[in-house]
Amino acid sequence: MSEAQDLEAFRASVSKWVSENLPPSIVGKGMDLEGEASDDVKADMDLWRQRLAEKGWGAPNWPKEYGGAGLGHPEAKIIAQEMAKQGGFNPIPLLAGMGVTMVGPTILEYGTDDQKERHLPGIASGEIRWCLGLSEPNAGSDLAGLSTKAVDEGDHFVLNGQKIWTSGANISQWCGAVVRTDPNAPKRDGISFVMLPMDQEGVETRPIQLISGASPFCETFFNDARVDKTDLLGDLNDGWSVVKRLLQHERQSQTAAGGRPGGPKESLADKAKRYVGTNDDGSLTDADLRTRIVKQMMAEQAHGLTVSRITAEARGQVKVSAAASILKNSATAIAQGNAELQMEVMGSQGIGWEGHNFADEELENVRDWLWGKAISIYGGSYEVQNNIISKNILGLPETTQKG
Ligand SMILES: Cc1cc2nc3c(=O)[nH]c(=O)nc-3n(C[C@H](O)[C@H](O)[C@H](O)COP(=O)(O)OP(=O)(O)OC[C@H]3O[C@@H](n4cnc5c(N)ncnc54)[C@H](O)[C@@H]3O)c2cc1C
Repeated sequence: MSEAQDLEAFRASVSKWVSENLPPSIVGKGMDLEGEASDDVKADMDLWRQRLAEKGWGAPNWPKEYGGAGLGHPEAKIIAQEMAKQGGFNPIPLLAGMGVTMVGPTILEYGTDDQKERHLPGIASGEIRWCLGLSEPNAGSDLAGLSTKAVDEGDHFVLNGQKIWTSGANISQWCGAVVRTDPNAPKRDGISFVMLPMDQEGVETRPIQLISGASPFCETFFNDARVDKTDLLGDLNDGWSVVKRLLQHERQSQTAAGGRPGGPKESLADKAKRYVGTNDDGSLTDADLRTRIVKQMMAEQAHGLTVSRITAEARGQVKVSAAASILKNSATAIAQGNAELQMEVMGSQGIGWEGHNFADEELENVRDWLWGKAISIYGGSYEVQNNIISKNILGLPETTQKG
């Protein structure tokens, strides 16, 4: 059989499996059902998670022995497509926090066998959520300036310091953190990457509220927090290499240009027709807006095809590069451009915060737009990605940015 025939056969088997295993009560629902759903629906969601985990489809590209399915990217894409076709949704990457997209791939690359065995299956099944303790109040773009200290106490380290913007810290079981293990070394040479359990006395989290009203991240305080030495990822004082790699995985995972998870599903063009109106031939009445929407759609299409090409070229390998910075910035520009146009087509209906004059989708719109401001900040800011592109891809001279 040719590769294409193999994939078609695989597609058919996935489609059959999804139709036999996706509980009807969760069809068409996403994670947002969590809070309001009945106990039965929640139980069905967990059953679906378990079934996916047994297939290794929570992290289909990972090796089978660590909870994955040992599949390539084309197969993983087919699984996602067939699930979506039947109204299914894979909750595992969200339940695992930073686990599936960032920490897991980095453990696969830098971890010892023991670390892989202990940490990866819990991520791949969506049972263990991870957060990332990188940024500090005085170390964001200049991450290497971090000052959280880890002191060697024989078989473990003791951590003291503060992290900030730690997404999901208050609901995570584990944290991957960068800490200073040698205060006398040049700043990038004295950093290590450690993994620590969040449920311990020395860790305190305080949620921060965003402009959109949500509290997706926290201040995280380490007061004599303990990290076993068996949870040092990579070599002592080589954490800068580990975190650089992790950040590439993070950017890679942020190339989808989709905006907020669970954000609007109706296409921009359809929404514009609904709000602005159409001519007799079905075209949008506002010609200038029509042109800008078409440009936006072309940019989205070109970006999507480029991501697919790069993913296909990687052929299922854990292979990310500085190109992730280009894709992250292009995804950012597209997502924010889309959000601006969504606002524009809805006019004053798109900027309501509360009240009966606004439909739910209109109230969500302004929250999506505000949320989208974060895309050019998290995972390394837009400007910092441009610095990386100029230095590592274009080979231009070093800027003031040292990260
Ligand atoms: C929604 C969200 C989730 C996040 N989740 C996490 C998380 O889970 N864990 C975590 O550790 N962190 C997280 N962060 C933090 C994020 O990584 C930092 O906000 C980001 O790296 C920028 O750092 P900063 O906020 O300290 O800004 P700063 O570094 O102070 O930058 C401020 C501004 O200056 C610009 N700037 C800085 N240096 C340069 C330069 N050399 N050249 C050009 N411009 C420059 C920046 O582009 C930015 O516009 C999250 C952030 C957001 C918004």
